[in-house]
Amino acid sequence: MNIGKPGILSVVATPIGNLGDLSPRAVEALRAASVIAAEDTRHSRPLLQHFGVATPLTAMHEHNERAAVASLIAKLQAGADIALISDAGTPLVSDPGFRLVRAAREAGIDVVPVPGACAAIAALSVAGLPSDRFVFEGFLPAKAAARRERLRELADEARTLVIYESSHRIAECCADLRDAFGAEREARLLRELTKLHETCLGATLGEIAKRVASDPEQRLGECVLVVAGRGEEADAKLAEGRRVYALLRAELAPAQAAKLAAAISGAPRKVLYGP
Ligand code: SAM
Repeated sequence: MNIGKPGILSVVATPIGNLGDLSPRAVEALRAASVIAAEDTRHSRPLLQHFGVATPLTAMHEHNERAAVASLIAKLQAGADIALISDAGTPLVSDPGFRLVRAAREAGIDVVPVPGACAAIAALSVAGLPSDRFVFEGFLPAKAAARRERLRELADEARTLVIYESSHRIAECCADLRDAFGAEREARLLRELTKLHETCLGATLGEIAKRVASDPEQRLGECVLVVAGRGEEADAKLAEGRRVYALLRAELAPAQAAKLAAAISGAPRKVLYGP
């Protein structure tokens, strides 16, 4: 407790599987805080017990975030140091916390990161795909039509894409990616990072989609997709595909024109014309 001055909000990363990834500095920040704001207190309690952290917990998740933020900001202003954690990995990365961090900044409260595990960065670091520039896409829309629409928008992205997906949608997602970006696009499916059954499946979207559809084991656990950006060769195919499509479109229905243009140029049909 800081008498007469506001407390500090620490944003603390927790492991995505392997408990050895909780840093000594994270343990210290969690022990020193007056309160830990956790996405799910029942989920985090065993982790905190394992590290001998006895700090009281309070819940802050997407359903109570507004009310929880007001109460946490009041505590910070009264001098309490608060640590924010999520169920796994780095808070705010496809996890709650944005409203709290923003409100703290607006209130002039110091916000400090205690960095650590993040599935997106862990996946990118081992995928072996260009990592100098990348885009974190997070979760794609759950509904098929919206997901396919989003993938059409992303098909021209030149930077490596990092995508989170839940195990029960991974087969559909891989099939949609293959259809939107083409079967030859380089990609990796990283599953169960830092855990016992960690795997890296590659090397193209076509291969990944096929394997995920035929092998139920590849649909288990948590996963990240890392997909190469559109390369120069793909660029040339796409330009040719669009040129041929425009020519054929003058004579044929869109679907037929796209089918032929894709066969002639090698560009993915769904990029030339959905659905
Ligand atoms: N905040 C977390 C982070 O820093 O990575 C992500 C939270 S998000 C709700 C959960 C998603 O992260 C999962 O659906 C999966 O896509 C990915 N993920 C989390 N842990 C993972 C792991 N050990 N291996 C692979 N993907 C993981």
